[in-house]
Amino acid sequence: MAVDPLIELRDVNKHFGQLHVLQDINLTVGRGEVVVVIGPSGSGKSTLCRAINRLETIESGTITLDGKPLPAEGKELAALRADVGMVFQSFNLFAHKTVLANVSLAQIKVRKRKKEEADKRSRELLERVGLANQAEKFPAQLSGGQQQRVAIARALAMNPKALLFDEPTSALDPEMINEVLEVMQQLAAEGMTMVVVTHEMGFARSAANRVVFMADGKIVEDRTPEAFFTAPESDRAKDFLSKIL
Ligand code: ADP
Ligand code: MG
Repeated sequence: MAVDPLIELRDVNKHFGQLHVLQDINLTVGRGEVVVVIGPSGSGKSTLCRAINRLETIESGTITLDGKPLPAEGKELAALRADVGMVFQSFNLFAHKTVLANVSLAQIKVRKRKKEEADKRSRELLERVGLANQAEKFPAQLSGGQQQRVAIARALAMNPKALLFDEPTSALDPEMINEVLEVMQQLAAEGMTMVVVTHEMGFARSAANRVVFMADGKIVEDRTPEAFFTAPESDRAKDFLSKIL
């Protein structure tokens, strides 16, 4: 269905020692598509995300962004990480910088924007994620849900082509999960290309174009949420869903 491929993985393989963590992975993410990746712990979901952002190298196969192979190093690699933003479970904000500085920093360093221009964009994005009043605070003064929304604003500030989310709500107290999912829902509705590792099935059902189910380093199913949730095909997926739903 992916008419206009933005991210493509072809026959991707990777080992950690004896562990074959990514096994012949083939995945296409179309421009504007939202792909939710689910699967048991240890199935390779984080490694998959990290490979797309080149935080992990692969041993064979190809990964392309916009038809071009991922750059290996240097300025091109920094640009890739800006083009494909990543939001982690553990926010990863700079503790000694204000919220505003956290969102502006890479815009200045990587996108070469002037400070005033970067700060202006940062304030717009902080407003968009509901944090207009928090710009001068430090991360530790914010709740987990607020910090994660800062991390999303920081990724958006780079004008990314795609965003990767690796269990963005897993470290949050339950009452903060929705405020982060709502921002993600809004991005999805605006046409942002997203790969989202999550166990939030409500989000998968309402925002995903496709659900990719991974187990033991393999993509076992790649289908619409409707098809996946109502009639999973594999025993692995049936077993997984029976445990989480
Ligand atoms: P998931 O995100 O689905 O839980 P991961 O991609 O984090 O899975 O990990 C897949 C497997 O690879 C796990 O068994 C994990 O222990 C292993 N693994 C992940 N990162 C490393 C690493 N840097 N070195 C060795 N093994 C790793
Ligand atoms: Mg993981």
